[in-house]
Amino acid sequence: MSRKLSIDLSGANALVTGASRGIGRAIAEGLAASGARVVVNYRQNVAAATEVVDTIKAAGGEAWAVQADVGTKRDVETLFRAVREHCEERLDILVNNAGGPGDRHLVGTMPEEVWDRCIDVNLKSVFLCTQAAWDLLPDNSGRVINITSISARSGGPPGGSHYSAAKAGLSNFTRACAKELAPRGITVNAIAPGVIYTDIHKLGTSPEQLAELKERTPLGMVGEATDLVGTTLLLCSADSGFMTGEIIEINGGMLMN
Ligand code: NAP
Repeated sequence: MSRKLSIDLSGANALVTGASRGIGRAIAEGLAASGARVVVNYRQNVAAATEVVDTIKAAGGEAWAVQADVGTKRDVETLFRAVREHCEERLDILVNNAGGPGDRHLVGTMPEEVWDRCIDVNLKSVFLCTQAAWDLLPDNSGRVINITSISARSGGPPGGSHYSAAKAGLSNFTRACAKELAPRGITVNAIAPGVIYTDIHKLGTSPEQLAELKERTPLGMVGEATDLVGTTLLLCSADSGFMTGEIIEINGGMLMN
């Protein structure tokens, strides 16, 4: 479990997409530690999702694991049938976290299906989940938090044009939704992480690349998934109702270099 933080979300219902591992897991556990009941979505790793649910329950919380590929409409419909059932038609907090960089290809040789899949998983998924959540978000207190990326501003590394384009789209989709939901008093914000040491980097970044990334970061280190929990809880708190349409950059200062 991540650190216990002092924001009270007792009685709130939350959905975190891609919550079986990494950032989504840390956020799901952080929300649960603050009192929220959490739907833990995952794509395929049922063992990891079950472990998250078991961890939350062992600490006295409530959680359910629900399989769905949020890049596909049919799965999102299945996911929200479960959300409606577990959350009794009220979703206080939606965290659109599922995503990832996909395989790298330079634009000149990018297979169309790799491009399409990356856009579906990182951008269309957020449209589908936000649309499905629209009528379940309570007026004057609902919270939507999207996990975008530093790549949305930097353009990402060579071979990552699909990912950086999807995340840039997500950052602006965040602002568009913030405007559309503002009349209902629902806030929509995004968190843009820099380098966070999850499976994305454990599996796809060499020790030499990691050392170079640390060197480019003024704080001299990469982040952990739990480094995003405090900001998420802050955005969910009742005291953050005047903050909407913001993209909060959490990257150890990397964006300044
Ligand atoms: P991760 O450790 O690879 O975990 C990805 C999670 O998303 C897993 O729970 C996975 O489920 C789930 N997932 C992936 N595709 C999905 C889909 N189509 N439908 C439903 N669930 C799906 O990744 P992470 O580092 O925590 O990244 C989380 C988010 O932060 C992503 O949006 C990523 O783009 C963003 N981000 C990460 C970094 C970083 O440095 N780590 C930096 C910037 C932004 P399974 O376990 O079932 O596979």
